[in-house]
Amino acid sequence: MFHEKRVNGVLFLYSDLLPCPHGFSTRVGGVSSLPHLKSMNLGENRGDTPENIAENTRLFCLAAELPQSTVSARQIHSDQILYREEGLKKGEERPQCDGFYTDKRGVSLFVKIADCIPILLYAPDVEAVAALHAGWRGTAQNIAGKGVEKLTSLGADPQKMLAAIGVGIGQCCYQVDDPFIDAFLGALGEDFSRFLKKNGEDGRYYADLKGANKALLLSAGLKEEHIDLCSQCTMCQSTLFFSHRATNGVRGTMGAAIALP
Ligand SMILES: [Zn+2]
Repeated sequence: MFHEKRVNGVLFLYSDLLPCPHGFSTRVGGVSSLPHLKSMNLGENRGDTPENIAENTRLFCLAAELPQSTVSARQIHSDQILYREEGLKKGEERPQCDGFYTDKRGVSLFVKIADCIPILLYAPDVEAVAALHAGWRGTAQNIAGKGVEKLTSLGADPQKMLAAIGVGIGQCCYQVDDPFIDAFLGALGEDFSRFLKKNGEDGRYYADLKGANKALLLSAGLKEEHIDLCSQCTMCQSTLFFSHRATNGVRGTMGAAIALP
């Protein structure tokens, strides 16, 4: 189950299923002052200063008891997941990928979202974690299953893995068009049509990205009771969360992060 927690004014979500440092940020508790970034913007290229982003990252990590050494990506809606032993060094470019995994302590793995779905994985048997960014393209490329494979490559048993699917756009708001439906079902199979629902009022289809990612984790061998799913929707609550769709892209970015205990 997901819970809200407020530490030193920083409001974040966490899953009580994951017994390791982790968190999903909200808009609340940062230092960014521009209206569309207020106030916990963790994303580059949104009009914020590097100093604000660094301070927000520091405050979020402090609140969620995450290591201050962090790594995040230039996300490209791919299925690329990189192994990291440590945080980004000063001046090091963020790598292009959509997820990280590690079996080293002391590094916080970040993904950045504002409607997309963040997925955090913990493998207690080998002490390894992963953070994944799943928009619809990442979902269609099964980045969730590939994240499980990365931890399995370190010796982890998927049956023991724990997963938290964090806050993102809900099926209530995620209207999709025919090109989406063709690509989504083309990649994942007709079986995934169960994650599309036609709205009787507007006749449009709405997709359940969180449910689709949960199905992909189950296919990868995780147990149902080992998957936590956040029911909150970024677009429904765009004062609490940054939402790309609710703002036509004029928005900040939230983070989801995990580290080993
Ligand atoms: Zn919604």
